[in-house]
Amino acid sequence: MTELTKLGVAAIRDGVTSGAFTAVEVATAFNANVANAKALNAFIVETPEKAIEAAQAVDAGRAAGKPLGKMAGVPIGMKDLFCTEGVQTTAASHILEGFVPTYESTVSANLWEAGAGMLGKVNMDQFAMGSSNETSYFGNVISPWRRSKIVSTDEANYEIIKSPKNVIRTVLPEGKARLDWTNALAPGGSSGGSSSAIAARLCPAATGTDTGGSIRQPAAFVGISGIKPTYGRCSRWGVVAFASSLDQAGPMARDVRDCAIMLEAMAGFDPKDSTSLDLPVPAWESCLNSDLKGKRIGIPREYRLDGIDEDIAKMWDNGIAWLKDAGAEIVDISLPHTKYALPAYYIIAPAEASSNLARYDGVRFGLRDLPEGAGLQDMYAATRAAGFGEEVRRRIMIGTYVLSAGFYDAYYTQAQKVRALIARDFDNAWASCDLILAPTAPSAAFGLGEKNADPLSMYLNDVFAVPASLAGLPAMSVPGGLSKQGLPLGLQIIGKALDEQAVLNAGLAIEQRSGFTAEAGEWW
Ligand code: GLN
Repeated sequence: MTELTKLGVAAIRDGVTSGAFTAVEVATAFNANVANAKALNAFIVETPEKAIEAAQAVDAGRAAGKPLGKMAGVPIGMKDLFCTEGVQTTAASHILEGFVPTYESTVSANLWEAGAGMLGKVNMDQFAMGSSNETSYFGNVISPWRRSKIVSTDEANYEIIKSPKNVIRTVLPEGKARLDWTNALAPGGSSGGSSSAIAARLCPAATGTDTGGSIRQPAAFVGISGIKPTYGRCSRWGVVAFASSLDQAGPMARDVRDCAIMLEAMAGFDPKDSTSLDLPVPAWESCLNSDLKGKRIGIPREYRLDGIDEDIAKMWDNGIAWLKDAGAEIVDISLPHTKYALPAYYIIAPAEASSNLARYDGVRFGLRDLPEGAGLQDMYAATRAAGFGEEVRRRIMIGTYVLSAGFYDAYYTQAQKVRALIARDFDNAWASCDLILAPTAPSAAFGLGEKNADPLSMYLNDVFAVPASLAGLPAMSVPGGLSKQGLPLGLQIIGKALDEQAVLNAGLAIEQRSGFTAEAGEWW
């Protein structure tokens, strides 16, 4: 690993701008890490030449005295949900294998315009459905973190031994390899390629999308930061749709400043997306300020679940103490409908998904399965049966069921009412607080294969993430400490609509106090 790959977004941009090193040197260094890291399976497609090309353009611009962009010389990972012109875009699904868009998503175009370059398309849960990156057709991603074996549970003095990292190769039914280390961990999901790649220093930052936690939970699982902005801040144009009323793009990076920089480059009004907010993009980076005097932080009592994980409870208490130390006032708040958020989400998201995924019919995109002598209906059925993975099929079944004539009112309409109540809970809470502090996920990273046999236990992992998604609010995860087994834990900050600045500022206040410097370590 060269020194350059230890740098984050701000340091790379500043170094390239000042001439301390060139963008091509940076891209070359990260390309080498990506090439060495196949065992993580973080990338579906590698595009080293694109990274170099973008870097050459930045270096040439600098030499010609042109002003450089916000992401000048920063090579990034692009979640494979963003359409990239001329580069295969699959949403990690077999049904889109071989699909090469002829257009560029607005968010990725904005990033290239700002001087970023693409290292490749990063792996993810299929159609962004999942919390562990195990639903990808291209195989699971491995977290570079390893659970430490606790030799003594004596808290004050426990000794840890890193688990061995023997790679086990299992061939999946589709013929794709599944790679496991002994006791390997999930990188979170659905943006698991993004989180794993950043934690392993294959890229300084990556795009994520968050429908019900897919930026925040994977960030928490690998000890990095990630922010889902207010719904409508980033254009959804050219982003493969999962649940359109919830989907939001956002940055994942090593720290809060890097997230602020990248979000500025990604966000902005886009007439091509009817839900895009027609508002200027604030100067989040230059307004970063960790002095929280005058800010009230709400602690939602309903998030203190019975039997909450001890490590999580402790981290949450530490977070409260850090924000107090930064000048904030802590207030107890109630979000009474919290317990209905998860069931409402798992009706609304599949309902929208079943409708969005109707377009994959074997006619227009990717895979076509046309059995001998088959008619049109047979082709639809064969293509969809062969092309969608198990979790995607489950969501389509749930979605079409809750939207069906006999059950629409009982499920979908009811879930929409619950969604309105959840949004109202937040509105009421803002009368007594400016921000909310909660854990990002109920536990540290779980092991590969530990939850995927039981979809419900997987869905439960999203319990703290989905309320902010249903309400369309900005929410961020920052590292909050380590579990007893030496794994990262995330603290979540939820803010008022459009108040990303306050969210980032509180994130910075935590970052400055948590002393979180833990690294996944050398894994290859
Ligand atoms: N884990 C959640 C799900 O499976 C959230 C996914 C996401 O935010 N894209 O739906």
